[in-house]
Amino acid sequence: MNQMLKRFACLAVAAACVNAFAAEREGKLDPPERNEGGGPYTQLILRNVTIIEGTLAPPISPVDIVIEGSRIKSIHLPDAVGSSAYSKDVPVLKPGGREIDGKGMYVMPGLIDTHQHIVRNPEYEFKLDLAHGITTIRDPGSGAGLDWLLQLKQKSAKHLITAPKIQAYLRFGFYPDGSFNLPTTEADARAWVRMAKKAGADGVKDAGFAPDVIRASMDEMKKQGLRSMIHHRQTMVARWNALDSSRAGVGSIEHWYGLPEAMFENRTVQYFPPDFNYQNEQDRFGEGGNLWSQAAAPYSERWNAVMNEMLEHDTTLSPTYTVYEKYRDYMRARTQEWFEDYAFPDAYTRRYSPSKEVHGSAMHNWTTKNESDWREQFRIWMIFVNEYKNRGGRVSTGSDEALLFGFSLIRELELLQEAGFMPLEAIRSGTLSGAEVLGIDHDTGSVEIGKYADLIVLDQNPLESFKFLYGTGAVKLMDDGEVERIGGVKYTIKEGIVYDAKQLLADVKAMVDAEKAKTGKKIVPPGMKRGAKAH
Ligand SMILES: [Zn+2]
Repeated sequence: MNQMLKRFACLAVAAACVNAFAAEREGKLDPPERNEGGGPYTQLILRNVTIIEGTLAPPISPVDIVIEGSRIKSIHLPDAVGSSAYSKDVPVLKPGGREIDGKGMYVMPGLIDTHQHIVRNPEYEFKLDLAHGITTIRDPGSGAGLDWLLQLKQKSAKHLITAPKIQAYLRFGFYPDGSFNLPTTEADARAWVRMAKKAGADGVKDAGFAPDVIRASMDEMKKQGLRSMIHHRQTMVARWNALDSSRAGVGSIEHWYGLPEAMFENRTVQYFPPDFNYQNEQDRFGEGGNLWSQAAAPYSERWNAVMNEMLEHDTTLSPTYTVYEKYRDYMRARTQEWFEDYAFPDAYTRRYSPSKEVHGSAMHNWTTKNESDWREQFRIWMIFVNEYKNRGGRVSTGSDEALLFGFSLIRELELLQEAGFMPLEAIRSGTLSGAEVLGIDHDTGSVEIGKYADLIVLDQNPLESFKFLYGTGAVKLMDDGEVERIGGVKYTIKEGIVYDAKQLLADVKAMVDAEKAKTGKKIVPPGMKRGAKAH
């Protein structure tokens, strides 16, 4: 796509996160052949572990999990632990198999990131994923080209590359080679959806266009058996909001746009100051932080009516809290400790240095009021998402464009807990609920017999703290007075192949170190000159 066309695409559909990162995707790299991971094994036994199924079942131990090839063959539970009646049908390792002594270890399902834009360096991105136990991702836009993404998907399915499993969704109006031509009539919308199906997409991401076009596209997706997700562009939410999408049968609602607008009761459009300009992102995200407070109050009649109807339509919420955190605490977001070792300096600058060119880098003059507004926004938004879950609604986890995949999805689990989810509920969102929204829950998403062995093994209890899942571990004061790091995923198992999570993270650091050595660049806080050289 040439610059002009790309610019046009940005203006025409923008808001969503894909196009503004197009530059980052130029020169995309193919990941090398897989050089990591052992197995799959004729038999792999995880011995004496504690399992967290992902189904809301409480933890059970000591359990033996038997994996044969890529799938879970049997799960051996003890009965009456601690009593004289204690017994367990203990499986014996067959010749040629592998056994992992899992005493003191926890096994949970592999995580599913239902909103992860693959950018340009999949080896780096995929190793960050697997290092954090992410075994499946959905790319919501195929922004680097569906053709390319489908190649990665096939290679991952055949285990030719070190990568999570991939679900490839195509962004409405885009073509498999990355070109763009937005359908503007119902007939064109339907024809485009049929093209997407034929091209091999697993689903489609709508961004919000003329109501007739969206309705037609969603109807055609149902006919074609394509899954759907939507990011409601804020320039169209007054004409088509989250409730409209829910009624049209959308699979998942990404982020939060269109939800408060569905619950307006004393206005039909958000407050815009007279000098507001949507293409000025300080305006867009600054005013955006006042949206939930303009909607019907939690538990009011309108609020309940919207929620209950969305529940009837079985709509999934995919809040991606993590990518909005920089608006409620810009300093926290830009100083995360893992950036130093694992972030490329240029990518850091793009995400956290304010910019008029880069989508989402809206913090041009980010004030105390902006952050206070966003804190209140999070509070009201979290009440909605938590209650949606309490009433039986499905919530999945996604990291979007947040810097450092893996780390950001673990943060999403923490933010769900902050919203009121119990740890077991947050884990279900990150695992089984994600599998359900992708339509692959018969194969993955929980620790159950017959499913793929897509698993996380770690030596700390994630129900105690999700911080144990971060690659950099959690801080702990030990009995001898030493301050140490504990946790971090030990093994990520994808379809029976065992990856050493810490080795993958070391590989990521080596890539970042090499880039820094080559370019002389390092991470410099926005606006600071110190340490800057060779720019
Ligand atoms: Zn996105």
